[in-house]
Amino acid sequence: MIHTLLPYSKQTIDRADIDSVIRVLKSPYLTQGPTIELFEEKLKEKTSAKYVVAVNSATAALHAACFAIGIDEGDEIITSPLSFAASANCVVYCRGKPVFADIDKDGLIDPNEVKKKINKKTKAIVTVDYAGQPSRINELKILCKQHGIYLIQDAAHSLGATYYHKPIGSLSDITCFSFHPVKTITTGEGGAITTNDRSIYEKILKFRSHGIIKSKQYLYKKNEGPWYYEMQTLGYNYRLTDIQAALGISQLSKVEDFVKKRFSIARIYNTSFKDLEKKEKLILPKERSKTTSAWHLYPLRVNFSYIGKTKKDMFIYFHKQGINLQVHYIPIHLHPYYKKKLHTKIGDYPKTEMFYEQEISLPLYPTLKDKEAERVIKTVYNFINNS
Ligand SMILES: *Cc1c(COP(=O)(O)O)cnc(C)c1O
Repeated sequence: MIHTLLPYSKQTIDRADIDSVIRVLKSPYLTQGPTIELFEEKLKEKTSAKYVVAVNSATAALHAACFAIGIDEGDEIITSPLSFAASANCVVYCRGKPVFADIDKDGLIDPNEVKKKINKKTKAIVTVDYAGQPSRINELKILCKQHGIYLIQDAAHSLGATYYHKPIGSLSDITCFSFHPVKTITTGEGGAITTNDRSIYEKILKFRSHGIIKSKQYLYKKNEGPWYYEMQTLGYNYRLTDIQAALGISQLSKVEDFVKKRFSIARIYNTSFKDLEKKEKLILPKERSKTTSAWHLYPLRVNFSYIGKTKKDMFIYFHKQGINLQVHYIPIHLHPYYKKKLHTKIGDYPKTEMFYEQEISLPLYPTLKDKEAERVIKTVYNFINNS
């Protein structure tokens, strides 16, 4: 039997998405037009945040967040080593130093480890909602309050998740979202920042577009003339286009459906693998109490040493069966750049390193069919029991 290659993730695009983009292509504004603001309004509704700034990636969002809280040389930010490089890179963009704190059993930054790393130079925590699960926000917030530091939430994975019945986006000082095609919703490339703090919002607005201000209320010289604008700080071009925002609006209306579908597939996996977990061959991802996950990933952990096989064996085996796997993540502190810059090494964050050793992400996306999930499950069983 010939199978199509199953990816580990992919976007879900329908007719309404395509029509929404075409409407903007026929309109006067491809960028800096009204669709951006409409997208920001819709994001406000979904996240319950007071202020939203749409940008062209979560990387830009994280950079803007570090800029807005004034990170500079000599400042430290504590973050998770189990993440995509961008959640540490944003600190370096602002000449600050990322300091890592090890994870808990679910892959989330452990507040007890964070506590050990806080000192006078610490300005913020960048917490990562690994695999779509909300971070341990309440515990982190207590630490932030005690030490007068900010909480930045890298929510690239968690749009559509809930924490104590609240949506992700208004829980931390600043929340950063990604709309890359593998994430909950997509705009091609794209991201957004949410905050309830007006002054942070204003800083990020400027930062998104060269540090330039046009609206009269914010100008230093208010009566120069109608052509007048001011560059007040150094900013970037981190703008999202109206074309992308149109896709975002259409996608956003489906976020609950997407998450529901992801959850139902995760549940099929969890039910099917229960006995392998009992035999201690696998560790399955679970939702923490008082939270729901956006199920960005299905991070399966395999006890490779116990079953006498390697992760590489598993990748090759699955690829032969037409299934692509992925690993989330290579610990950030073990990338050559950070080893050189921060003098980090193997053994520094043992829980993260163990997680990396065992973790593989199975295919999970809204259009994955039950039959395809069953094929993945069968392949896991065959790999563990026979190959
Ligand atoms: C995807 C991702 C990012 C970066 O998002 P972009 O929109 O691609 O810049 C940052 N952090 C995490 C945890 C991610 O998964």
